[in-house]
Amino acid sequence: MISTDLHLLFSNIRKEFPALTQKAYGKDLVYLDSAATTLKPQSVIDRMTQFYSYETGNVHRGAHFIADKATQAFENARMRTAQFLGAESADEIIFVRGTTEGINLVAQTYGKMNLKAGDEILLTEMEHHANIVPWQMIAEQTGAKILAVGLLENGELDLNDFKLKLSSKTKIFAFTACSNVLGTNNDMKFLTALAHQAGAKVLIDGAQIVSQAPINVKDLDCDFFVFSAHKLFGPFGLGVVYGKKSILESLPPYQGGGSMISKVTFEKTTYNDIPYRFEAGTPHVAGAVGLHSAIDFVERLGFKNIHAFESELLSKATSSLLQIPGLKIFGTSATKGPMVSFNIQGAHHSDLSQIIDQEGVAVRAGHHCTQPLMAKLGVQGTVRASFSVYNNTDDIEHLVKAVEKAREMLL
Ligand code: PMP
Repeated sequence: MISTDLHLLFSNIRKEFPALTQKAYGKDLVYLDSAATTLKPQSVIDRMTQFYSYETGNVHRGAHFIADKATQAFENARMRTAQFLGAESADEIIFVRGTTEGINLVAQTYGKMNLKAGDEILLTEMEHHANIVPWQMIAEQTGAKILAVGLLENGELDLNDFKLKLSSKTKIFAFTACSNVLGTNNDMKFLTALAHQAGAKVLIDGAQIVSQAPINVKDLDCDFFVFSAHKLFGPFGLGVVYGKKSILESLPPYQGGGSMISKVTFEKTTYNDIPYRFEAGTPHVAGAVGLHSAIDFVERLGFKNIHAFESELLSKATSSLLQIPGLKIFGTSATKGPMVSFNIQGAHHSDLSQIIDQEGVAVRAGHHCTQPLMAKLGVQGTVRASFSVYNNTDDIEHLVKAVEKAREMLL
């Protein structure tokens, strides 16, 4: 049972999300696709509107009133993000477009500088394409090889396989903190320590974890940590790369253009200090400001409360869905994040999700940008319902009824 206090806290929070006041096909919208993107609270929307209304000077170059305001808001957002991640300094925070661009940045800077033929990049079988393809691209360019750690039946990492595949050849270990399909939460600190013992650098894909649990990159000791603001109640088009200062300082730029330079002549260009060296062109200032507000929102709620609430929703959803004949859940780790991926024997995941959608319940269906994982599971795709701070037990009941109806219609 969710405690009364928590129930009250989160039913009030729900009112802060304007998206939930609308109907879908004449029915109350039930939003269960937060692993794809979270809805945005009014506070984030208001802060971005205020920014676009009064603060849209360009950053770092304008010597006037509103350019200074914008620069201050942008750099405050960087400091807030550094604090949110437990980074040592704001210099360690690079603003990019999202997790995907962040991983490409690390692959094309750290990877390009440090990988050579015979080196290995270690991934896991539960990675999103965003944490596979950028590494394959740099592997092709450098002659490095990709390996992937296998999974156990319950969707957790096979640690014996990890220890087998990790070696002095491993130059980079890049893994997701939480699988966007199985929900598996990986032990970031433990895995990072083992990878470091082997001499590898570590990148953590934090896309799914940042809305679930507090992060302290210093304690984790990871070399890079990336996430997207839009999965943390923030805006689209803004992502974050954390990198250890000493490593970032050793890296070449990612893209060329304005702001990332120190001096330009036609003969030679010298580059700016970190983090600006990695931020060519006008950045997504409103996005960073929106992220600042989103971090305030999530910290106001508190990760302890979020975890307690979402765990209850997850366990109710899991036990209710398992009552449905023929329904199989993929990912059964005891410490998994708030999502359930499933299929029903004899029904196609797309057909299921279409009927569920018609009931006003938004879920995701398909390969979830994890085709190697789907191949491993022996399925083409799954239906995924994911839960967040604005959901409640009624939402779960709607989901279960919609899945039951879909099953009856399809079988
Ligand atoms: N990694 C994981 C685990 C994800 O869930 C996602 C988004 N589905 C990404 C990376 C990519 O994030 P983005 O599309 O915001 O770059």
